[in-house]
Amino acid sequence: MALDTSKCANRNGVISNKDVPSVTRDNSKISLAPQTEEETPTTALDIYTELNKYVVGQHEAKKALCVAAANHLKRIAMKDPTVKKSNVMLVGPTGCGKTHLVSSLAKILDVPFASVSANSMTAAGYVGGNVEDCLRSLIFNASNMKKANTERKSSLQTQAAYHITKAEHGIVMIDEVDKIRKKGGSGGRDIGGESVQQGLLTMIEGTVMNVNINGSGSTDQSNIVSIDTSNILFVFSGAFPDIQDIVKNRLTSEGVSVFEMDEDEIYANVKETDLEAFGMIPEFIGRIPILSHIRSLSKEEFEKILIEPKDAIFSQFRKLFAADGATLNVTKELIGYIAQKAKEKKRGARGLRTVLEDLLADAQFISNSFAGNNLSFYMTLFDDGAPGTIVKAPKDIAEEIRAVIASGDYGNFSIEIADI
Ligand code: ADP
Repeated sequence: MALDTSKCANRNGVISNKDVPSVTRDNSKISLAPQTEEETPTTALDIYTELNKYVVGQHEAKKALCVAAANHLKRIAMKDPTVKKSNVMLVGPTGCGKTHLVSSLAKILDVPFASVSANSMTAAGYVGGNVEDCLRSLIFNASNMKKANTERKSSLQTQAAYHITKAEHGIVMIDEVDKIRKKGGSGGRDIGGESVQQGLLTMIEGTVMNVNINGSGSTDQSNIVSIDTSNILFVFSGAFPDIQDIVKNRLTSEGVSVFEMDEDEIYANVKETDLEAFGMIPEFIGRIPILSHIRSLSKEEFEKILIEPKDAIFSQFRKLFAADGATLNVTKELIGYIAQKAKEKKRGARGLRTVLEDLLADAQFISNSFAGNNLSFYMTLFDDGAPGTIVKAPKDIAEEIRAVIASGDYGNFSIEIADI
């Protein structure tokens, strides 16, 4: 439903509830109640349909992950070691949903998930994070899952065994994998790159590893557990900043014209050989057979990300306002404004939260300070094009809020008396 801005354009004017539509869809349908337990989907299509509830766009990467996930479940059920797993590499710009896709997938499949940055990894024997740190996180996260908690009544040993079995079927995401590229021509030991890739080889292919659950620095041997990584799905991701030139040069040498290609098209053309030219070693790339791409997000996708997914950023804020006994609504025009501002920040969807936090800072201050007073907040664009908030409050509270706002440096606020 589009907003007729002429009706709410006046900063001091009175507007009625019906003049300010909540969002582009019926907000009353956004449930704040806890989700009920749903059946875990198993087919690629079912997983895809579920993923669509959390992730906007990125259809190619979604499909690739759904196939990998369905195969992951099949392999676990088959228990046939001759069927090898297919780890995944996601290449694409930052803030566009790589981690969100994979963590949503783990949630949908009800398997433990751990996300670590390759940037913090060092090869064995050097100070820093070890490659198996991600397994420790996975075991830890497995022990925090809802179903794992039902095992709490059993003995400590049974619990530990249960968590490790769960972790052995989980998903590990290793982000910023471009940071462990092999550095060419520098000589000497390359502790940040090639040796870390070497260190990851056996783990991602499948082996039994000993992990000290107290941390890699711990000398307490009684906390070492063995975990089989054969059925853990590893997803790698990175923005691979300089790969654009590598791809363009290769395509040009193949006679393909690259002049009209935008960043997304170049990413979509990345091949295994480009990743090798970038500095990933062939043994490493060879163990990650699925290569998929993440695209930059359009303004329309930014708008959807704000309000549509199950865990949408805007509904998270509505929950925070609801905890104060207040309601929060936004006009379609303001959703467009936020999406545009976030896009200008060039940080992917992460910019949305920053813009929204900024716009809502004063409203959150008022909402929290006057909690329990049935306040209604409407975010909108005023007639001069500036974003602002209209607060509806019972008469006595409205006066108090007016006094607070008059005494401080608040943004665009218009206060109305609610008819109760
Ligand atoms: P990256 O690609 O750098 O891993 P993230 O997945 O961490 O980016 O995205 C940052 C945040 O932006 C996520 O937590 C999520 O809230 C939001 N987001 C990014 N892309 C999408 C998308 N395609 N659909 C829904 N939310 C998204």
